[in-house]
Amino acid sequence: MSIATINPFDNKVVKTFEEMTPETVNSAITQAEDTFKTWRTQPFSRRTEILHRVAQIMRERSDDLSKLITLEMGKLYAQSQGEIALSADIVDYYATNGEQFLADEQLKPEFGEAYIKKSPIGVLLGVEPWNFPFYQVARFAAPNIMIGNVVLVKHASNVPQCAQALEDIFLEAGAPKGLYTNLFISGTHVSNYIADERIKGVSLTGSELAGASLAAAAGKALKKSVLELGGSDAFIVLEDADIDQAVAWAVIGRMNNTGQCCVAAKRFIVVEAVADEFLAKFKAKLTGLKVGDPMDSTTELGPLSSEGAAVQLADQVQRSVDAGAKVILGGKRIDRPGAFMEVTILTDIKPGMAAYHEELFGPVASFYRVKDESHAIRLANDSPFGLGGTVFTANKERGKKVATMIDTGMVFINHPTWTQPDLPFGGTKRSGYGRELSALGVEEFVNKKLIRFSEYADPF
Ligand code: NAP
Repeated sequence: MSIATINPFDNKVVKTFEEMTPETVNSAITQAEDTFKTWRTQPFSRRTEILHRVAQIMRERSDDLSKLITLEMGKLYAQSQGEIALSADIVDYYATNGEQFLADEQLKPEFGEAYIKKSPIGVLLGVEPWNFPFYQVARFAAPNIMIGNVVLVKHASNVPQCAQALEDIFLEAGAPKGLYTNLFISGTHVSNYIADERIKGVSLTGSELAGASLAAAAGKALKKSVLELGGSDAFIVLEDADIDQAVAWAVIGRMNNTGQCCVAAKRFIVVEAVADEFLAKFKAKLTGLKVGDPMDSTTELGPLSSEGAAVQLADQVQRSVDAGAKVILGGKRIDRPGAFMEVTILTDIKPGMAAYHEELFGPVASFYRVKDESHAIRLANDSPFGLGGTVFTANKERGKKVATMIDTGMVFINHPTWTQPDLPFGGTKRSGYGRELSALGVEEFVNKKLIRFSEYADPF
């Protein structure tokens, strides 16, 4: 029963799915490879047509799809609707701009004529996480389908109905069978398929453990991989910042998706001069959020994605507290059925504690008081992760200078790290490699082929 819908609001099993046998997966790969042979020859207009239709269906079904997200992983319903809208925007973005991104690039060599043609490479495998069941898939599938690749998607085992809905939408939009294929296989079995020579590239969004396992298998088989892994983003507040603005965005940056965003603000690093004010206001805003059913529009704090996720987060908090961290808000599971965890603020966190080094994937904020800007930068960079980050300051140039010094793939000034179709997304260090979204999102799984033309000339 590893592939199942379990409603995290009450931890009840709603629906279970059989894992596909190796034979079924094999047929799916064969179908995908066959489809690639014709899909790669289709004009951009055909690819565009299908992707726009996918986006349209997503918008038309927004209510039903949003309910599925909320049922399977507990996201507040209004946020699920936001996710569907964003996913449709991403699909439309690649449908509209893909041809231009993939246009031939003329070179100016010393001799002859030459250009780069961006060609598809074939069947790709995407391994996706549950935290944004539609958005994560959209940013992998849409650019690659526009390129002329075909995709197999192994979604997280706790969102099988979202996974199936995505395949159904592509088929309904007129995609040929094999262009987008949902694979019901468990994470522990993914590596078995990577060596298959019909699969030409792999992409994983998820944890470090899964990323390392997938990348090792891909490396062994000499295949390109893209990894979008975890993060522990710093949210730096400098003494010249507007504290009310910083606090308002800090709450959104930490609490969006019940804290389960790879780019959530997780470490609040505040310069001494404004630390007390920031902490008091931050705590006040996080206190007393209304806990309840994520389908209820008045609920402010829903469950985490699963009981396992809540147990793990509570354990990370407890280990930190055992090692000397202080809890100034929350700190425990909420005493009710479902995968609920209190909104928590930890202070007095030191190197060696779980909260210092590990990603806290839920509504737990780590608060650090620092002497000045350079101390803030040092602390921000003392992390195994390098995904996003934030700097709050009234001085734009100062913000840009600090942003340059932070070792991550993305830094936002006066805003939590966020996402939109036309901005690249990805990290460094243990947050992975490669980029999704924007024009960069079509660059990962293309063959940038050099084509050179020469006039006949005497070879001697
Ligand atoms: P996870 O356990 O790594 O799961 C992600 C996906 O990987 C699932 O489909 C999972 O399948 C699969 N998987 C698990 N073990 C695997 C293995 N050994 N080989 C291949 N695939 C494997 O991650 P999660 O805890 O669900 O997701 C949260 C993590 O994702 C967080 O660390 C978060 O920061 C990160 N994330 C990163 C980004 C980004 O863009 N950088 C975006 C979103 C999330 P099963 O479900 O069957 O186990």
